[in-house]
Amino acid sequence: MKCCKCNVEMVEKKTTFDYLGHEASYPVLRCPVCGQAYVPEELAAGKIADVEKLLEEK
Ligand SMILES: [Zn+2]
Repeated sequence: MKCCKCNVEMVEKKTTFDYLGHEASYPVLRCPVCGQAYVPEELAAGKIADVEKLLEEK
């Protein structure tokens, strides 16, 4: 996976997401030059669905 802007190899980096006051960290691919993160759509959608489920259970 390469950054489409810089054409350099993206590196996996742990990134903290803040979703409705809940913090969760996941490793995502980021460009070391411009910092653009690549989050696969299904991952983002899946994780947000998980958090929503968690909120419903509480
Ligand atoms: Zn870049």
